[in-house]
Amino acid sequence: MPYNKVTDKIITELESIVGVENVVTDQEKLEIYGGDEVPEAEWKHPPEVVVKPRNAREVSEVIKLANRELIPVTPRGAGTGLAAGAVPMLGGIVLTVENMNRILEIDKQNLFMVLEPGVTTGEVQKHAREEGFFYAGDPCSAESSFIGGNVATNAGGNKAVKYGTTSRYVYGLEVVLPTGEITTLGGKCVKDVTGYDLVHLMVGSEGTLGVITKIYLKLLPLPSYNAVLLVPFTDMRTAINIVPLIMTNGGIIPTSIEFMDNTCIRSAEEYLNRKLPFGDAGAYIIIEVEAYTESQLESDYETIGNICLENGGLEVFVGDNKSSQEKIWKARRYLAESLRVTSPVYCMEDIVVPVSGIPAVLEDIDNIAGKYNIKIANFGHAGDGNIHATLLKESMPDDTWYEVKEKVLEEVYASTHAHGGKLSGEHGIGAKRVKAMAKYLDPVQMQVIAAIKKALDPNLVLNPDKLVNVD
Ligand SMILES: Cc1cc2nc3c(=O)[nH]c(=O)nc-3n(C[C@H](O)[C@H](O)[C@H](O)COP(=O)(O)OP(=O)(O)OC[C@H]3O[C@@H](n4cnc5c(N)ncnc54)[C@H](O)[C@@H]3O)c2cc1C
Repeated sequence: MPYNKVTDKIITELESIVGVENVVTDQEKLEIYGGDEVPEAEWKHPPEVVVKPRNAREVSEVIKLANRELIPVTPRGAGTGLAAGAVPMLGGIVLTVENMNRILEIDKQNLFMVLEPGVTTGEVQKHAREEGFFYAGDPCSAESSFIGGNVATNAGGNKAVKYGTTSRYVYGLEVVLPTGEITTLGGKCVKDVTGYDLVHLMVGSEGTLGVITKIYLKLLPLPSYNAVLLVPFTDMRTAINIVPLIMTNGGIIPTSIEFMDNTCIRSAEEYLNRKLPFGDAGAYIIIEVEAYTESQLESDYETIGNICLENGGLEVFVGDNKSSQEKIWKARRYLAESLRVTSPVYCMEDIVVPVSGIPAVLEDIDNIAGKYNIKIANFGHAGDGNIHATLLKESMPDDTWYEVKEKVLEEVYASTHAHGGKLSGEHGIGAKRVKAMAKYLDPVQMQVIAAIKKALDPNLVLNPDKLVNVD
């Protein structure tokens, strides 16, 4: 699709819509909006202009202008994405929701938070807690990602094994469609089959079907007690085998079951500058349990601890207070940062397989790493089969890196597919995985996705060439 350039006249018009102070044209500042957390240069591209609307009406006017002038618009949250979804690969306008950051309502009778998309996830969690409630979404990026970005990517995270992903808590959305109309989908009703489920069509649509300007988020009662267990194992297969046992033999669904391999353990030790227990273990499993009574909590973590010890766990370390829990979680939560110290350039993947398939896929990944002589660190959400295989460039020359990375990804995706898995469990497709998705998703589904995109965005102005390429 041939798009037009942003002219001085268009910039003046944008200034009259959102205010001069909310339009960025300074080249240095534009660079900041030209990337997300994908570290590789090929997934960076600056926009021609950034706009920071304050409400849905301003978003709508910007999008109508973009349709009239045929200019691509890339919605942006906090830019913590790991798929280059918020990167304006074709230039044009970046529309950031950073000025739309108000919590509008806590509805204590219906247990809802109504808020704008630019509130950080951490603020959502904190605010809910202060009001005596619980927001169950918990991506590792919670301190910096926006709730709008979480909705747009259907973010998962540490608590998905028990509480599911962001979509489970989204009951309503105000959205500006790619042609500029403003509409509210769903709301506070717990049941709603009045037409297609358009709320959940928008959730995970990665800014390709609409700009989310208001969110109706379901809250839960706050669980009062929690404990975190760290269990080292000699090898990954033994470690992963305990996941179904906790649920079947133990009858418990933990809040989190995370895993990290030895490369990750070593990297965390280096980043945190402290020795971790059983630092030469083949794998760590981190388990969090929550309960509404102290006795239930103790009984649950004792059951889980015993299952681990009876099935190859080398030791069970229990964090039953804030500081010991934080010590355990830090090793896992800061893994992206740790790996960045080990290798500033890396490629973090997000494959997902049925839980029982994790060991086989990890064995394939080990073999692929050996074949191409590259280090691949593996960690992720064991409870939901989500593996963040992370290719480390280390000192590999640039040319070799690009060539090797492509071949490795090809084989990793093929193994994932062969084990009944998918390319992305939570980070999304963005710009980074468009070609791979077209290769591995059923062509019938690709046609449906393209038809939906064309129907809602006939001029293809909203985040074009992300998730799906449509001509
Ligand atoms: C250290 C680290 C840990 C992470 N851990 C997790 C994790 O545990 N689980 C997980 O799922 N992800 C994780 N991520 C990835 C990332 O944080 C999530 O994808 C997050 O949801 C992105 O939110 P954001 O506000 O930064 O969105 P952005 O990166 O700005 O945008 C992401 C996508 O959403 C679209 N978008 C953003 N806001 C809107 C809006 N208001 N309307 C329409 N479209 C919009 C963009 O166009 C883009 O396609 C992690 C990232 C890092 C760096």
